[in-house]
Amino acid sequence: AAKAEGKGAYAIYSHKLGHLVEQRREREELLAGAIENGAFELHYQPIVCLATDLPTSIEALVRLKRNPNLTPDVFIPIVENMGLMPRLGEWIIKAAFEDSLKWPGVHTSINLSPLQIQSADLLGIVDGYKAEFDIDPATIIFEITEGVLLDKTQHVRSVLDGLKGRGYKLALDDFGTGYSSLSYLGDMNIDRLKLDQSFVRGGRIREARNATLVKAVIDIGRNLGIEVVAEGVEDLAEVEALRLWGCSHVQGYLLSKAVPATAAVKRLRDLMDKARNSELPRDRTR
Ligand code: C2E
Ligand code: MG
Ligand code: MG
Ligand code: MG
Repeated sequence: AAKAEGKGAYAIYSHKLGHLVEQRREREELLAGAIENGAFELHYQPIVCLATDLPTSIEALVRLKRNPNLTPDVFIPIVENMGLMPRLGEWIIKAAFEDSLKWPGVHTSINLSPLQIQSADLLGIVDGYKAEFDIDPATIIFEITEGVLLDKTQHVRSVLDGLKGRGYKLALDDFGTGYSSLSYLGDMNIDRLKLDQSFVRGGRIREARNATLVKAVIDIGRNLGIEVVAEGVEDLAEVEALRLWGCSHVQGYLLSKAVPATAAVKRLRDLMDKARNSELPRDRTR
């Protein structure tokens, strides 16, 4: 009986594997022509400054127009594997630079994949679109992950220094989940830390150990003059706690999900109205 069961389990396993292989093939097919077919689209999620309650920046997040269920954390690794990331990355920079002109006064945050930074000509691409759209680099934030700072190669260093030297801002994304070494915060000129949503979301911030970690990161940021963005803010209690602890910015579904550029313009306006009417909770005793 055990043998039969084993065979059955194997049959199920190989059936599942076959399905996965097939799914993978379909996704690669879909992604292969996606840039040319205009299948990608950028959505934008506002980031709110807790000192003023105003949305002061907005993050570009890539989407597949007709496949909302295929999310970037799934398709970006496939795109990377196919060797298409530098081209998708270039398209993202171009589209985000162009869209950034739709919200003057609000900074635009753009995610850079490690492969994009390692590829030959990121600085040339950035320079090209800066000139084409007449972009002020001070209005653009590039988000990199901790792994990029681990890469000590001359090329990666010179790309990061090149971006800073041109006046772009750098944010360290997914902070707390990677191989972060606090020394990087001292020697790289990082402008903001983005505290990963796994510390915040779904009531986690109310767990004592998470609260301690979050407070420590906020304090490090404050003492180094680095902005701290808490990601994954889904309820008012989380905002209240973060405000009380001196966190500088928040981002999350409570304020807005990522929406297409036209909707983002309206969303930013609504958030600015809300700030004026002081509709976000404030600790008025401080
Ligand atoms: P990320 O850069 O850390 O982006 C934040 C992710 O958290 C986004 O997911 C966003 O929609 C989601 N999020 C924001 N607030 C909340 C919240 O309150 N609750 C929950 N549950 N989620 C929230 P998304 O758009 O699916 O992106 C996932 C990851 O894919 C991004 O993480 C980033 O690493 C990557 N990614 C997305 N767009 C791009 C891009 O244009 N270029 C590159 N290189 N990577 C991208
Ligand atoms: Mg990001
Ligand atoms: Mg993030
Ligand atoms: Mg993330």
